Amino acid sequence: MADLDLVLAGVTLDGVPADLGIGGGRIRRVAPAGSLTAARIETCGGLLALPGLIDGHIHLDKSFIGLPWVPHRPDATVAGRIAAEKVLLAAIAEPMACRARRLVEQVAARGTTGLRTHVDVDGEIGLRGLEALLALRAEVAGLVSMQIVAFPQSGVVSQPRGVLEDAIRAGADVVGGLDPAGIDEDVEGQLAVVFGIAERHGVPIDIHLHDPGELGAWELRRIAARAKAAGMRGRVAVSHAFALGAVPEAVLARTAAALAEAGVAIMTNAPGPEPIPPVKRLVAEGVEVFAGSDNIRDAWSPYGNGDMLERARLVGYRAGLLTDAELRLALDLVTAAPARVIGLAPAVLAEGACADLVLVAAQHVPEAVATAPIRSLVMKAGRIVARQGVLV
Ligand SMILES: [Zn+2]
Repeated sequence: MADLDLVLAGVTLDGVPADLGIGGGRIRRVAPAGSLTAARIETCGGLLALPGLIDGHIHLDKSFIGLPWVPHRPDATVAGRIAAEKVLLAAIAEPMACRARRLVEQVAARGTTGLRTHVDVDGEIGLRGLEALLALRAEVAGLVSMQIVAFPQSGVVSQPRGVLEDAIRAGADVVGGLDPAGIDEDVEGQLAVVFGIAERHGVPIDIHLHDPGELGAWELRRIAARAKAAGMRGRVAVSHAFALGAVPEAVLARTAAALAEAGVAIMTNAPGPEPIPPVKRLVAEGVEVFAGSDNIRDAWSPYGNGDMLERARLVGYRAGLLTDAELRLALDLVTAAPARVIGLAPAVLAEGACADLVLVAAQHVPEAVATAPIRSLVMKAGRIVARQGVLV
Protein backbone atom coordinates (compact mmCIF):
# COMPACT_ATOMS: atom_id res chain seq x y z
CA MET A 1 0.00 0.00 0.00
CA ALA A 2 2.97 2.25 -0.65
CA ASP A 3 0.91 4.30 -3.08
CA LEU A 4 -1.42 5.48 -0.31
CA ASP A 5 -0.88 8.85 1.39
CA LEU A 6 -3.89 8.50 3.64
CA VAL A 7 -6.58 6.02 4.59
CA LEU A 8 -10.10 7.14 5.45
CA ALA A 9 -10.77 4.24 7.78
CA GLY A 10 -14.28 3.04 8.48
CA VAL A 11 -16.45 5.18 6.25
CA THR A 12 -19.85 4.07 4.99
CA LEU A 13 -20.57 3.91 1.26
CA ASP A 14 -24.35 4.27 1.04
CA GLY A 15 -24.80 1.79 3.88
CA VAL A 16 -21.75 -0.42 3.29
CA PRO A 17 -18.70 -0.10 5.65
CA ALA A 18 -15.41 0.48 3.79
CA ASP A 19 -11.92 1.96 3.87
CA LEU A 20 -10.87 4.48 1.22
CA GLY A 21 -7.17 4.57 0.31
CA ILE A 22 -6.12 8.00 -1.00
CA GLY A 23 -2.92 8.64 -2.99
CA GLY A 24 -1.77 11.25 -5.49
CA GLY A 25 -5.06 13.10 -5.26
CA ARG A 26 -7.07 10.04 -6.23
CA ILE A 27 -9.02 7.24 -4.60
CA ARG A 28 -6.58 4.33 -5.07
CA ARG A 29 -8.37 1.64 -3.10
CA VAL A 30 -11.93 0.91 -2.00
CA ALA A 31 -11.68 -2.00 0.41
CA PRO A 32 -13.53 -3.69 3.29
CA ALA A 33 -13.46 -1.67 6.52
CA GLY A 34 -10.34 -2.34 8.60
CA SER A 35 -8.27 -3.73 5.72
CA LEU A 36 -6.14 -0.74 4.60
CA THR A 37 -3.13 0.89 6.26
CA ALA A 38 -0.98 3.93 5.45
CA ALA A 39 1.31 6.37 7.24
CA ARG A 40 -1.72 8.59 7.89
CA ILE A 41 -5.01 7.12 8.99
CA GLU A 42 -8.13 9.21 9.50
CA THR A 43 -10.57 7.32 11.72
CA CYS A 44 -14.03 8.01 10.34
CA GLY A 45 -16.30 6.14 12.75
CA GLY A 46 -18.87 5.10 10.17
CA LEU A 47 -19.44 8.56 8.64
CA LEU A 48 -21.14 8.42 5.25
CA ALA A 49 -18.85 9.30 2.32
CA LEU A 50 -20.38 11.20 -0.59
CA PRO A 51 -18.76 12.49 -3.79
CA GLY A 52 -17.71 16.14 -3.66
CA LEU A 53 -20.74 18.37 -4.19
CA ILE A 54 -20.98 20.33 -7.41
CA ASP A 55 -22.80 23.63 -7.77
CA GLY A 56 -24.07 23.80 -11.33
CA HIS A 57 -25.06 27.47 -11.17
CA ILE A 58 -23.74 30.17 -8.85
CA HIS A 59 -23.11 33.92 -9.20
CA LEU A 60 -19.85 34.57 -7.34
CA ASP A 61 -19.74 38.18 -8.57
CA LYS A 62 -23.12 39.25 -7.21
CA SER A 63 -23.06 38.27 -3.53
CA PHE A 64 -23.04 40.84 -0.70
CA ILE A 65 -21.54 38.18 1.58
CA GLY A 66 -19.38 39.67 4.34
CA LEU A 67 -20.97 43.12 4.04
CA PRO A 68 -23.58 44.64 6.34
CA TRP A 69 -27.05 43.36 5.50
CA VAL A 70 -28.50 44.84 2.32
CA PRO A 71 -32.33 44.89 2.40
CA HIS A 72 -33.96 43.32 -0.66
CA ARG A 73 -35.65 45.78 -3.07
CA PRO A 74 -38.56 44.05 -4.76
CA ASP A 75 -39.20 44.54 -8.46
CA ALA A 76 -41.73 42.66 -10.52
CA THR A 77 -39.71 42.42 -13.75
CA VAL A 78 -36.34 40.90 -14.65
CA ALA A 79 -35.33 44.19 -16.32
CA GLY A 80 -36.28 46.15 -13.20
CA ARG A 81 -34.22 43.89 -10.95
CA ILE A 82 -31.22 44.16 -13.27
CA ALA A 83 -31.39 47.97 -12.97
CA ALA A 84 -31.80 47.81 -9.18
CA GLU A 85 -28.81 45.47 -8.90
CA LYS A 86 -26.55 47.83 -10.83
CA VAL A 87 -27.35 50.63 -8.33
CA LEU A 88 -26.67 48.36 -5.33
CA LEU A 89 -23.40 46.91 -6.67
CA ALA A 90 -22.11 50.34 -7.72
CA ALA A 91 -22.43 51.52 -4.11
CA ILE A 92 -20.05 48.82 -2.75
CA ALA A 93 -16.48 50.02 -2.28
CA GLU A 94 -14.93 46.59 -1.66
CA PRO A 95 -13.58 44.85 -4.78
CA MET A 96 -15.85 42.08 -6.08
CA ALA A 97 -13.03 39.53 -5.86
CA CYS A 98 -13.01 39.83 -2.05
CA ARG A 99 -16.70 38.94 -1.80
CA ALA A 100 -16.35 36.20 -4.40
CA ARG A 101 -13.45 34.70 -2.49
CA ARG A 102 -15.45 34.73 0.75
CA LEU A 103 -18.24 32.90 -1.01
CA VAL A 104 -15.87 30.31 -2.50
CA GLU A 105 -14.45 29.65 0.97
CA GLN A 106 -17.95 29.30 2.39
CA VAL A 107 -19.13 26.83 -0.23
CA ALA A 108 -15.88 24.83 -0.03
CA ALA A 109 -16.36 24.48 3.72
CA ARG A 110 -19.80 23.04 2.95
CA GLY A 111 -18.45 20.44 0.58
CA THR A 112 -18.56 22.06 -2.86
CA THR A 113 -15.55 20.83 -4.82
CA GLY A 114 -16.63 22.01 -8.29
CA LEU A 115 -18.82 24.83 -9.59
CA ARG A 116 -20.06 26.68 -12.67
CA THR A 117 -20.19 30.42 -11.99
CA HIS A 118 -21.87 32.99 -14.20
CA VAL A 119 -20.14 36.39 -14.37
CA ASP A 120 -21.83 39.55 -15.62
CA VAL A 121 -20.50 40.76 -18.96
CA ASP A 122 -22.01 43.82 -20.63
CA GLY A 123 -21.13 47.12 -22.27
CA GLU A 124 -20.84 48.86 -18.92
CA ILE A 125 -18.84 46.40 -16.77
CA GLY A 126 -17.00 44.99 -19.78
CA LEU A 127 -14.65 42.16 -18.85
CA ARG A 128 -13.66 43.48 -15.40
CA GLY A 129 -15.70 40.89 -13.49
CA LEU A 130 -14.44 38.07 -15.70
CA GLU A 131 -10.81 39.10 -15.25
CA ALA A 132 -11.26 39.19 -11.46
CA LEU A 133 -12.77 35.70 -11.43
CA LEU A 134 -10.08 34.29 -13.73
CA ALA A 135 -7.49 35.49 -11.19
CA LEU A 136 -9.53 34.14 -8.28
CA ARG A 137 -9.90 30.76 -9.99
CA ALA A 138 -6.14 30.26 -9.91
CA GLU A 139 -5.96 31.30 -6.24
CA VAL A 140 -8.66 28.89 -5.07
CA ALA A 141 -7.81 25.93 -7.31
CA GLY A 142 -6.97 23.89 -4.21
CA LEU A 143 -10.53 24.31 -2.96
CA VAL A 144 -12.78 24.14 -6.02
CA SER A 145 -12.68 23.43 -9.73
CA MET A 146 -14.27 26.52 -11.30
CA GLN A 147 -15.92 26.89 -14.69
CA ILE A 148 -16.85 30.43 -15.79
CA VAL A 149 -19.85 31.41 -17.93
CA ALA A 150 -19.83 34.81 -19.66
CA PHE A 151 -23.29 35.95 -18.62
CA PRO A 152 -24.94 38.74 -20.66
CA GLN A 153 -26.99 40.03 -17.72
CA SER A 154 -28.11 43.10 -19.68
CA GLY A 155 -29.01 41.25 -22.89
CA VAL A 156 -27.19 40.17 -26.04
CA VAL A 157 -28.43 41.97 -29.15
CA SER A 158 -29.25 45.05 -27.05
CA GLN A 159 -25.62 45.33 -25.86
CA PRO A 160 -22.52 46.48 -27.76
CA ARG A 161 -21.65 43.84 -30.34
CA GLY A 162 -18.62 41.79 -29.55
CA VAL A 163 -18.42 42.07 -25.76
CA LEU A 164 -19.73 38.53 -25.24
CA GLU A 165 -17.31 37.07 -27.77
CA ASP A 166 -14.48 39.13 -26.25
CA ALA A 167 -15.25 37.40 -22.93
CA ILE A 168 -14.70 34.00 -24.54
CA ARG A 169 -11.43 35.21 -26.10
CA ALA A 170 -10.40 36.49 -22.64
CA GLY A 171 -10.85 33.05 -21.06
CA ALA A 172 -14.51 32.45 -20.19
CA ASP A 173 -15.30 28.73 -20.65
CA VAL A 174 -18.98 28.95 -21.54
CA VAL A 175 -21.13 31.45 -23.45
CA GLY A 176 -24.31 32.55 -21.69
CA GLY A 177 -27.66 33.94 -22.78
CA LEU A 178 -30.68 35.49 -21.12
CA ASP A 179 -34.38 35.50 -21.94
CA PRO A 180 -34.12 35.94 -25.72
CA ALA A 181 -37.74 37.12 -25.77
CA GLY A 182 -38.10 38.84 -22.40
CA ILE A 183 -34.86 40.83 -22.46
CA ASP A 184 -33.84 41.19 -26.12
CA GLU A 185 -37.29 40.77 -27.72
CA ASP A 186 -35.40 39.01 -30.51
CA VAL A 187 -35.33 35.27 -29.98
CA GLU A 188 -33.63 34.23 -33.21
CA GLY A 189 -31.28 37.24 -33.05
CA GLN A 190 -29.98 36.36 -29.57
CA LEU A 191 -29.75 32.64 -30.29
CA ALA A 192 -27.87 33.30 -33.53
CA VAL A 193 -25.25 35.34 -31.65
CA VAL A 194 -24.91 32.85 -28.78
CA PHE A 195 -24.74 29.72 -30.95
CA GLY A 196 -22.46 31.54 -33.39
CA ILE A 197 -19.95 32.26 -30.62
CA ALA A 198 -20.24 28.69 -29.32
CA GLU A 199 -19.55 27.22 -32.75
CA ARG A 200 -16.67 29.58 -33.59
CA HIS A 201 -14.90 28.99 -30.27
CA GLY A 202 -15.99 25.42 -29.45
CA VAL A 203 -17.48 26.40 -26.10
CA PRO A 204 -20.65 25.14 -24.37
CA ILE A 205 -23.78 27.26 -23.84
CA ASP A 206 -25.78 28.03 -20.67
CA ILE A 207 -28.85 30.26 -21.12
CA HIS A 208 -30.89 31.80 -18.28
CA LEU A 209 -34.55 31.42 -19.24
CA HIS A 210 -37.18 33.01 -17.00
CA ASP A 211 -39.65 33.63 -19.85
CA PRO A 212 -42.90 31.98 -18.75
CA GLY A 213 -45.46 29.54 -20.09
CA GLU A 214 -45.92 28.77 -23.77
CA LEU A 215 -43.45 31.49 -24.78
CA GLY A 216 -40.69 29.95 -22.63
CA ALA A 217 -41.52 26.43 -23.84
CA TRP A 218 -41.33 27.58 -27.45
CA GLU A 219 -37.92 29.18 -26.77
CA LEU A 220 -36.76 25.90 -25.22
CA ARG A 221 -37.74 24.07 -28.43
CA ARG A 222 -35.91 26.70 -30.51
CA ILE A 223 -32.81 26.22 -28.35
CA ALA A 224 -33.14 22.43 -28.73
CA ALA A 225 -33.47 22.78 -32.51
CA ARG A 226 -30.35 24.92 -32.72
CA ALA A 227 -28.41 22.59 -30.39
CA LYS A 228 -29.35 19.63 -32.58
CA ALA A 229 -28.43 21.45 -35.79
CA ALA A 230 -25.08 22.48 -34.30
CA GLY A 231 -24.33 18.94 -33.06
CA MET A 232 -24.01 20.25 -29.50
CA ARG A 233 -25.54 17.28 -27.63
CA GLY A 234 -24.50 17.50 -23.96
CA ARG A 235 -23.03 20.99 -24.42
CA VAL A 236 -26.11 23.19 -24.04
CA ALA A 237 -27.87 23.93 -20.75
CA VAL A 238 -30.86 26.09 -19.92
CA SER A 239 -31.04 27.46 -16.40
CA HIS A 240 -34.40 27.85 -14.61
CA ALA A 241 -36.77 27.03 -17.49
CA PHE A 242 -39.72 27.95 -15.26
CA ALA A 243 -41.95 27.43 -18.29
CA LEU A 244 -41.62 23.65 -17.97
CA GLY A 245 -43.48 23.83 -14.67
CA ALA A 246 -46.40 25.81 -16.03
CA VAL A 247 -47.45 24.53 -19.46
CA PRO A 248 -50.19 22.04 -20.44
CA GLU A 249 -49.25 18.38 -20.59
CA ALA A 250 -49.08 18.20 -24.38
CA VAL A 251 -46.67 21.16 -24.54
CA LEU A 252 -44.53 19.73 -21.74
CA ALA A 253 -44.35 16.35 -23.50
CA ARG A 254 -43.34 17.92 -26.83
CA THR A 255 -40.76 20.21 -25.20
CA ALA A 256 -39.24 17.49 -23.00
CA ALA A 257 -38.90 15.21 -26.03
CA ALA A 258 -37.11 17.97 -27.96
CA LEU A 259 -34.71 18.65 -25.05
CA ALA A 260 -33.94 14.94 -24.62
CA GLU A 261 -33.38 14.40 -28.34
CA ALA A 262 -31.03 17.40 -28.60
CA GLY A 263 -29.22 16.60 -25.33
CA VAL A 264 -30.07 19.96 -23.73
CA ALA A 265 -29.75 19.98 -19.91
CA ILE A 266 -32.00 21.85 -17.47
CA MET A 267 -30.77 23.52 -14.27
CA THR A 268 -33.09 24.27 -11.36
CA ASN A 269 -32.45 25.78 -7.94
CA ALA A 270 -36.11 25.26 -6.98
CA PRO A 271 -36.81 28.92 -6.16
CA GLY A 272 -39.76 29.35 -3.81
CA PRO A 273 -42.26 31.52 -5.70
CA GLU A 274 -41.69 30.22 -9.27
CA PRO A 275 -43.02 27.15 -11.08
CA ILE A 276 -40.09 24.71 -11.39
CA PRO A 277 -39.34 22.12 -14.04
CA PRO A 278 -40.89 18.71 -13.16
CA VAL A 279 -37.66 16.94 -12.20
CA LYS A 280 -38.88 13.33 -12.07
CA ARG A 281 -40.79 13.64 -15.33
CA LEU A 282 -37.88 15.23 -17.20
CA VAL A 283 -35.41 12.62 -15.96
CA ALA A 284 -37.84 9.87 -16.98
CA GLU A 285 -38.02 11.45 -20.46
CA GLY A 286 -34.22 11.34 -20.71
CA VAL A 287 -33.49 15.00 -20.00
CA GLU A 288 -30.34 15.78 -18.01
CA VAL A 289 -31.39 17.77 -14.92
CA PHE A 290 -28.92 19.36 -12.51
CA ALA A 291 -29.05 21.80 -9.63
CA GLY A 292 -27.30 24.96 -8.48
CA SER A 293 -27.51 27.66 -5.84
CA ASP A 294 -28.11 30.56 -8.22
CA ASN A 295 -28.27 33.75 -6.14
CA ILE A 296 -26.76 33.83 -2.66
CA ARG A 297 -27.51 36.89 -0.54
CA ASP A 298 -27.49 39.37 -3.41
CA ALA A 299 -29.76 41.84 -5.17
CA TRP A 300 -31.89 38.97 -6.45
CA SER A 301 -32.36 37.06 -3.21
CA PRO A 302 -31.54 37.47 0.48
CA TYR A 303 -31.55 33.66 0.78
CA GLY A 304 -28.96 31.02 0.02
CA ASN A 305 -25.73 29.81 1.57
CA GLY A 306 -24.17 27.68 -1.18
CA ASP A 307 -24.80 24.44 0.71
CA MET A 308 -25.45 21.95 -2.10
CA LEU A 309 -26.71 19.18 0.20
CA GLU A 310 -29.33 21.66 1.45
CA ARG A 311 -30.01 22.53 -2.20
CA ALA A 312 -30.59 18.83 -2.99
CA ARG A 313 -33.01 18.74 -0.06
CA LEU A 314 -34.81 21.88 -1.30
CA VAL A 315 -35.10 20.64 -4.87
CA GLY A 316 -36.25 17.26 -3.60
CA TYR A 317 -38.80 18.92 -1.33
CA ARG A 318 -40.29 21.04 -4.11
CA ALA A 319 -40.08 18.31 -6.75
CA GLY A 320 -41.74 15.70 -4.54
CA LEU A 321 -38.71 13.37 -4.33
CA LEU A 322 -39.73 11.11 -1.45
CA THR A 323 -38.72 7.47 -1.95
CA ASP A 324 -35.15 6.35 -1.29
CA ALA A 325 -34.58 6.05 -5.05
CA GLU A 326 -35.86 9.61 -5.54
CA LEU A 327 -33.66 10.93 -2.73
CA ARG A 328 -30.70 9.29 -4.48
CA LEU A 329 -31.77 11.15 -7.63
CA ALA A 330 -31.70 14.38 -5.57
CA LEU A 331 -28.05 13.69 -4.70
CA ASP A 332 -27.28 13.03 -8.37
CA LEU A 333 -28.58 16.54 -9.15
CA VAL A 334 -25.71 18.00 -7.07
CA THR A 335 -22.98 15.46 -7.93
CA ALA A 336 -23.05 13.22 -11.01
CA ALA A 337 -25.34 15.35 -13.20
CA PRO A 338 -23.55 18.72 -12.85
CA ALA A 339 -20.21 16.91 -13.25
CA ARG A 340 -21.38 15.70 -16.67
CA VAL A 341 -22.74 19.10 -17.65
CA ILE A 342 -19.63 21.01 -16.57
CA GLY A 343 -17.33 18.38 -18.01
CA LEU A 344 -15.66 17.41 -14.74
CA ALA A 345 -14.42 13.88 -14.02
CA PRO A 346 -17.29 11.57 -12.95
CA ALA A 347 -18.42 12.30 -9.38
CA VAL A 348 -18.12 8.79 -7.95
CA LEU A 349 -16.38 7.11 -5.05
CA ALA A 350 -14.52 4.46 -6.99
CA GLU A 351 -10.93 3.36 -7.51
CA GLY A 352 -9.21 5.78 -9.89
CA ALA A 353 -11.66 8.62 -9.27
CA CYS A 354 -10.48 12.05 -8.16
CA ALA A 355 -10.47 12.19 -4.33
CA ASP A 356 -13.10 14.93 -4.06
CA LEU A 357 -15.45 13.84 -1.28
CA VAL A 358 -17.35 14.80 1.83
CA LEU A 359 -18.15 12.91 5.03
CA VAL A 360 -21.41 13.39 6.90
CA ALA A 361 -23.18 11.76 9.83
CA ALA A 362 -25.89 9.76 8.07
CA GLN A 363 -26.65 6.09 7.50
CA HIS A 364 -26.96 6.35 3.76
CA VAL A 365 -27.67 8.74 0.88
CA PRO A 366 -31.45 9.11 1.42
CA GLU A 367 -30.91 10.18 5.04
CA ALA A 368 -28.10 12.57 4.04
CA VAL A 369 -30.34 14.31 1.48
CA ALA A 370 -33.32 14.49 3.81
CA THR A 371 -31.34 15.90 6.75
CA ALA A 372 -28.38 17.73 5.12
CA PRO A 373 -26.06 17.25 8.11
CA ILE A 374 -22.96 19.41 8.68
CA ARG A 375 -19.96 18.35 6.58
CA SER A 376 -17.72 16.52 9.07
CA LEU A 377 -14.86 16.49 6.56
CA VAL A 378 -14.29 17.83 3.04
CA MET A 379 -11.53 16.55 0.77
CA LYS A 380 -10.45 18.20 -2.50
CA ALA A 381 -8.03 16.25 -4.73
CA GLY A 382 -6.88 14.14 -1.78
CA ARG A 383 -6.29 17.07 0.59
CA ILE A 384 -8.51 17.67 3.63
CA VAL A 385 -9.76 21.25 3.21
CA ALA A 386 -12.49 21.50 5.87
CA ARG A 387 -13.62 19.90 9.10
CA GLN A 388 -16.96 20.38 10.85
CA GLY A 389 -18.01 22.95 8.27
CA VAL A 390 -14.90 25.13 8.74
CA LEU A 391 -11.91 25.45 6.37
CA VAL A 392 -8.68 24.05 7.82
ZN1 LIG B 1 -28.45 32.73 -12.42
